[in-house]
Amino acid sequence: MACDLCPHRCGIDRLHDQTGRCGVGSQALLAAAEVHRGEEPPLITGAGSGTVFLAGCIARCRFCQNYQISLLRQGHPVTPENLADTFLFLQNQGCSNLNWVTPSPHLPFLLKALAMAMNRGCHLPVVYNCNGYMNVDIVTELDGIVDVYLPDMKYGEDVWAEKYSGLPEYSSINAGVVREMAKQVGALVIDSSGAALSGVLVRHLVLPGKIAGTARVLKTLASINPDIPISLMAQYRPCYEAVDDPVLGRCLYREEFEDAVELLALYGLTRAYVQSADALQLQDGYFPDFNRQPGKIFTGE
Ligand code: SF4
Repeated sequence: MACDLCPHRCGIDRLHDQTGRCGVGSQALLAAAEVHRGEEPPLITGAGSGTVFLAGCIARCRFCQNYQISLLRQGHPVTPENLADTFLFLQNQGCSNLNWVTPSPHLPFLLKALAMAMNRGCHLPVVYNCNGYMNVDIVTELDGIVDVYLPDMKYGEDVWAEKYSGLPEYSSINAGVVREMAKQVGALVIDSSGAALSGVLVRHLVLPGKIAGTARVLKTLASINPDIPISLMAQYRPCYEAVDDPVLGRCLYREEFEDAVELLALYGLTRAYVQSADALQLQDGYFPDFNRQPGKIFTGE
């Protein structure tokens, strides 16, 4: 059966273990499953987010911080039964959601596993944590299954998306995907305990040299739904193939991130999670800090 799960539409037969750009064949590749507290505050209530890191990726970001699992595909083949066991394990650990990281190439396996886990009592909200490069009809099919969409809006300009992440026509495809997600579940809804119940939360990593097209991304998001919260991230540091890149071979300058933060108000995006500028200082490792609550900077959350 020809795979057309994502916009690359490789057309190869994964059921017979051919692999396309994502490198995923007839089985899911599980890299790690853990209780994770390095996400935005609404995702880490309870014991934390039940992250399920899947190996392989439809993007080829030269600067990917997770390149060992995304590009080098360091993961173990697992059955849907194994995944269902994993979901229930995370629920038993007290996680407040199931956070599928880079799920798109694994979707058939994940859906089968989720049905199995639900039959065995799994009731956690599902977070679809992706790069925002999908076929809109796949998003439509996830209606009623995914509770929280957590897409990236990585680039505002296609030339950089193709050069640095191998994602042709990213900006228009991404806008259509986020629009469909918003139509389906609306902006992020948080319960009285602070936990994410449903809706869309967008992530955007600010890149050196304005490569991410932050202004255009924020303008697009505002045109889709300005109530959708955006997580603005400062944590970029060069790794993998970006180390020697003339543009991406350095960390962000403080002013670059501050300029991006100022744009939030310009485009009327009043719900935002702004990562601590301390993330700019870290050269050897990254520890995310989303404790800077948006309400202290903007109205909203
Ligand atoms: S999911 Fe993988 S094999 Fe299928 S179209 Fe996308 S990149 Fe190609």
